[in-house]
Amino acid sequence: MARCLGTIVSNDNKRICHHTLYRCKNCGNIGCDFNYVIGCSSQGFLNGKCIICGESGQIEVFDTGK
Ligand SMILES: [Zn+2]
Ligand SMILES: [Zn+2]
Repeated sequence: MARCLGTIVSNDNKRICHHTLYRCKNCGNIGCDFNYVIGCSSQGFLNGKCIICGESGQIEVFDTGK
């Protein structure tokens, strides 16, 4: 299971996201998934919906070891 290395900036603090990475089976977009806009530089999904192609329910856990 891969971890998101995007940066989240909140209240002038920067931290690494470390959330689980997901991949869109429809368009191949890879990013983390939150149910709100968290501001992660690598957020790819919003509550399970791909923010690139707009499909929902097409996400799977992204594993770089495959
Ligand atoms: Zn992230
Ligand atoms: Zn997509």
